[in-house]
Amino acid sequence: MTFILDKPTILIADDEPINVRVLAQNLTPNYRIKTATNGQKALAIVNSDDPPDLVLLDIQMPDMDGYQVLVAMRQQDSSKNIPVIFITAKDGAEDEAKGLDLGAMDYITKPFNLPVVNARVKNQIALKQKTDLLEKLALIDGLTEIPNRRHYDSRIEVEWRRAIKDGLPLSLVMIDIDEFKLFNDNYGHAQGDVALKRVAAITASQLKRNSDLVARYGGEEFVVLLPDCTLAFARTIADNIRQAVYSLNLEHEYAKAKQVTVSLGVSCIIPSREQSVESLQKKADELLYLAKKSGRNKVVAEPFN
Ligand SMILES: [Mg+2]
Repeated sequence: MTFILDKPTILIADDEPINVRVLAQNLTPNYRIKTATNGQKALAIVNSDDPPDLVLLDIQMPDMDGYQVLVAMRQQDSSKNIPVIFITAKDGAEDEAKGLDLGAMDYITKPFNLPVVNARVKNQIALKQKTDLLEKLALIDGLTEIPNRRHYDSRIEVEWRRAIKDGLPLSLVMIDIDEFKLFNDNYGHAQGDVALKRVAAITASQLKRNSDLVARYGGEEFVVLLPDCTLAFARTIADNIRQAVYSLNLEHEYAKAKQVTVSLGVSCIIPSREQSVESLQKKADELLYLAKKSGRNKVVAEPFN
């Protein structure tokens, strides 16, 4: 799998415009630069939709100083992992210890030496990129390279709360490969893995919106999360997935259809606070079971109320 790493973004926050200008000029060749000349503005950029990968933060600023900005950043989920390097005229060991105690990654004293700033920035950015990559990998299923169960579990919680707040329908499709045990027993696990990958990829290709998510739920089971999606539309998507898997034409001579097929259970809810995510999943699972019982290679869809 590939991850495209954009040019990292650095926020420079200092109340003296000359410092901002010198640092920005120095870092521009390798980074996207954002600037702020007070603590409030720095915090607004940190909490925006396009947060920086690193903050170079002056300590002495009027109204809100660098220590306060850092404390505020560490209290928010969205900004608590963004590394901060203090750049400051406060050069006492106590000041440095306080900054590091609050969670700064590094500390540079003024007047600063530009090659040292560059080297320290480069080190922190490298560390941040490794951490980000590990976080992404932790949410991907190693075999099929689609999102894993953990990713799905956190996303459905978010989408569930959003659906309650906005009063919008949330649809769920549970998918299971038919007679997969027989497939593995007869063709071997290596071929089984190939089948899992092909089914995962073609299922993902049927989803068109950024908000839709397909994940490996476990074994030969997949789940599709469709926010702001009616039952009728979810049923159509589920049937597209069923047909797409059928059109893969993967031989399975021990199955009734003589090829790899999937069964799908589809449910939809406009959730309220009295209901639970688990109850929707259970409903979709029951409908999947009905699809199996009624002959496999089928979609069974029902609203959940
Ligand atoms: Mg200052």
